[in-house]
Amino acid sequence: MKRWLSKISGPASTERLGRVPFAENVPGDFYVEDGCCTSCGMPSTVAPELFSYAVDGHCYVSKQPSNVVEVRKMIDAFEVQDIGCIRYKGTNRVIQIKLIASGEGDQIDGLDHDLQALNDEVNADRWGQKK
Ligand code: SF4
Repeated sequence: MKRWLSKISGPASTERLGRVPFAENVPGDFYVEDGCCTSCGMPSTVAPELFSYAVDGHCYVSKQPSNVVEVRKMIDAFEVQDIGCIRYKGTNRVIQIKLIASGEGDQIDGLDHDLQALNDEVNADRWGQKK
């Protein structure tokens, strides 16, 4: 079970994509993008142990998920967040597929071509664009 969690840390294309993580995020693959906040407060409703808030209300990842339950809670936070500030820059394909299946694949930095194609198909299904 821990084999896939061991691959959580991986090369990030986040900087190459021009995305800047909020400075207070703890190191790791999940992050909140800097300056992207309406202070919705939603992450703490589903994953209070994984998020904290700066004095201006901007949330940040204060604990990276370290087990399957916490990964599920993090994905729940993706689903309830206001404007797509929470992102994943890791290369763990299990987590990437879970995010894609949850309709959150656009929140992943640097998807490989095969998973980008899967994400495109999921999005097309969601928006009724499938042929
Ligand atoms: S999820 Fe986004 S909008 Fe909501 S508090 Fe966090 S950074 Fe702000």
